Amino acid sequence: MAKTLLEVKHLKKYFKVSAGLLHAVDDVTFTIEEGKTLGVVGESGCGKSTLGRVVLGLLDATDGEVYFDGKETTKATKEERHELRKDMQIIFQDPFSSLNPRMTVKEIIGEPLKIYGLCKTKEELDERVAKIMETVGLADRLAFSYPHELDGGRRQRIGVGRALALEPRFIVCDEPVSALDVSIQAQILNLMMDLQEQRGLTYIFVTHDLSVVKHISDDILVMYLGCMVEKCSSDDLFDKQLHPYTKGLLAAIPIPTIGAKKERVMLTGELSSPIEPKPGCRFAVRCRYAKDKCFTENPVMEEVLPNHFVSCHYVREINGLD
Ligand code: SF4
Repeated sequence: MAKTLLEVKHLKKYFKVSAGLLHAVDDVTFTIEEGKTLGVVGESGCGKSTLGRVVLGLLDATDGEVYFDGKETTKATKEERHELRKDMQIIFQDPFSSLNPRMTVKEIIGEPLKIYGLCKTKEELDERVAKIMETVGLADRLAFSYPHELDGGRRQRIGVGRALALEPRFIVCDEPVSALDVSIQAQILNLMMDLQEQRGLTYIFVTHDLSVVKHISDDILVMYLGCMVEKCSSDDLFDKQLHPYTKGLLAAIPIPTIGAKKERVMLTGELSSPIEPKPGCRFAVRCRYAKDKCFTENPVMEEVLPNHFVSCHYVREINGLD
């Protein structure tokens, strides 16, 4: 049986804002096996990027626990977090703004190695940087280039190389291809999947784009205003999504075949506020199936089909399940 590398239990992240407490991540629970990818999807503002940062310890959790390889990281000291960073890395959405414009490709990729003192000599550092550049498909001649001299795809390859420098086991990929042209997106996704296969990497892949996440994810977690609404295998989600919100998200994906038809459950209505949210389903104001109970009681995640979890009071009725 595969080993669980990451376990997240009832994780919460609230931010104080002038109008009260903003519930960015509210009671999120999941596990990821080593070498697998969990896609985390939802619209902008659903808390998916915040979730990735709290899991990594870049933001403190308000409540809940994160275990990496069996050890709780949410209570780690500053020194322990520094050590954990070797194993837990992040690739950011916008390679341009996340790379220091005054550093060359070689300096950017070599920086983590220097910070952690992993190379004894300059020759060893040069050798390791060259190897990483080769791994992520960056030609030697680009070693002394600056990020602004390169296209988006190459810049994101630098981001991937920097994340790989410390040989991590786990990477949060925060919308890593959203800022790239479609043709380049495929190259970066293929690179990430190759690296996963070669190194047994474990990913959380955060995106708003379901068509991207389909190819890279083993499981998918759908979030809505900080809450989990559906979690299952990638195949199951694209085969039969059960939550009304997920149905709407999938309906928004363009169909490439001329004349193709599918059920359209378009998402309409205003989002409710994640600041001091009232009891009830957060999707209720946009849900065409909502009844009185939806506005007063929080739905909980339950296993509706084998390994297919949904948070909706009326999921069986809506989907014609017993
Ligand atoms: Fe819709 Fe109610 Fe289900 Fe929420 S709990 S998704 S409002 S039917």
